[in-house]
Amino acid sequence: MNTNQTREILLSKQRRLQRRVSMIDLDFRRERDDDFEELATESENDEVLSALQNEAIVELEQITKALHLLDCGRYGKCLDCGQDISKERLQVLPYTTLCSKCASDDS
Ligand SMILES: [Zn+2]
Repeated sequence: MNTNQTREILLSKQRRLQRRVSMIDLDFRRERDDDFEELATESENDEVLSALQNEAIVELEQITKALHLLDCGRYGKCLDCGQDISKERLQVLPYTTLCSKCASDDS
């Protein structure tokens, strides 16, 4: 996979996530007092939405970092141990900044 392809993949994922984040934002701002009986469900939805929101924000941060690394030619190297990240791993997680070993040490 060359740099341009990787950048395209990262940018399109970034756009998708940004769209998701702004849609969830809109949903949060919607009027909530139309129907009181729905409030319980609404707050459960809020939890799910905010989890999705957080997940998207974390991924966006990773993508921004990966794009930066791509720009300075350090993409594909583990930020923790400096080893090359395997091609297979980058294909599955193009925005990862850790090799599989360091990522599993982390969790
Ligand atoms: Zn590593």
